[in-house]
Amino acid sequence: MKRKVRMGMVGGGPGAFIGNVHRMASRLDGKIELVAGAFDIDPVKSKQTGEELCLDSSRVYSTYKEMIANESALSADKRIDFVAVTTPNNWHFPIAKDFLEAGFNVMCEKPMTMTLDEALELQKIVEKSGKVFGLMHNYVGYPMVKLAKDMVKNGELGKLRKVVSIYPQGWLARPIEKTGQQQAAWRTDPKQSGAGGCVGDIGSHAENLAEYITGLKITELCADLTSFIEGRPLDDDCNCLVRFEDGVKGVIYASQISVGEENGLSIWVYGTDAGIEWHQEHPNQLLYKPIDGPVQILSRGNGYIGTKSPAAVRGSRIPAGHPEAFLEAFANHYSNFADTILLKEEGREVDPIIGDFPQVHDGVRGMAFIETVVASSRAGSVWTKMPKV
Ligand code: NAD
Repeated sequence: MKRKVRMGMVGGGPGAFIGNVHRMASRLDGKIELVAGAFDIDPVKSKQTGEELCLDSSRVYSTYKEMIANESALSADKRIDFVAVTTPNNWHFPIAKDFLEAGFNVMCEKPMTMTLDEALELQKIVEKSGKVFGLMHNYVGYPMVKLAKDMVKNGELGKLRKVVSIYPQGWLARPIEKTGQQQAAWRTDPKQSGAGGCVGDIGSHAENLAEYITGLKITELCADLTSFIEGRPLDDDCNCLVRFEDGVKGVIYASQISVGEENGLSIWVYGTDAGIEWHQEHPNQLLYKPIDGPVQILSRGNGYIGTKSPAAVRGSRIPAGHPEAFLEAFANHYSNFADTILLKEEGREVDPIIGDFPQVHDGVRGMAFIETVVASSRAGSVWTKMPKV
């Protein structure tokens, strides 16, 4: 790897949440440098963020279209290598499409698009472009999640039977969107969020985590969506029974009205020989529960992790007992994404451990999940097959 990968950003203006997380995480390993951006829907605020970040003002843009035009005109050793799309959901598809078609790699926030049709179209565009496309399902960037996946793959749980994947939050228990709270306002608006509210925003993380760790696809589901806040047009609570391939059964639920819960993403996977359990709020530990022995607490950064999961080792930076968490999980995806861009540029093979970050197909699965949940619930909570995508 002979050079830094040059990043541009769309979104992440003043008061925004996730854009700044991308900025912090992308520079954690020194592989990526932010050089350009169209940071806000308001051009004045975009300039403000550019100034705060001490960027060259000629590369702080009023719109993402202006960014594509100007960056494309720069020489290959100056222009951005990729764009990070950190806007609300309704902008993901047009921005990702335009940058890919202009020859740029893309790192996109989830959910990938507004509809499954758009997701399938984007998949075709990514394939045609030959560019690298990353999707920020950050929770599969945690080392102990990678360990869990490898333990399942290595047969340490026996034959899988049951998966429970949950994501409770409580921050939308009151109608804070009516107070103008920025993140709540667009998340509860179908025109900006899509057909799913809570299920799209965080249910898709629970789905992605379950499919990543088990390596199994959800085949059908039975869902019950509720909007507990009067007048809120999208669900704020999602309860879902799921069936996976190979006869595995499970439960996925997500909620934004579970008062007192913060970011309680957790997963339990049970096989014939053992169970495992992981909690996002305590991400450095994975519980391993063998059928004939005591519960074991596997802890990130220890040597014994390496014998089970090289991917978990690659995703750790500091010794055991010094916690790593949210930012590092984002950074793991960025590190793999940046290495993949450079390897492809050099015409070299991408090792599967480096290629281990969510990509366009994960986005297609996520959109299929959201649409199937909404369809099942609207039909009166009936078992509904997932599209074969
Ligand atoms: P936010 O409202 O805090 O920020 C959105 C930013 O995008 C704002 O600065 C806004 O001005 C800007 N923007 C909107 N349209 C734009 C456009 N056309 N051009 C340029 N800038 C534009 O939203 P957020 O909470 O940061 O969420 C943004 C995205 O990130 C959403 O898709 C959300 O689902 C996702 N997200 C993911 C995670 C995660 O854990 N992976 C967490 C939070 C949010």
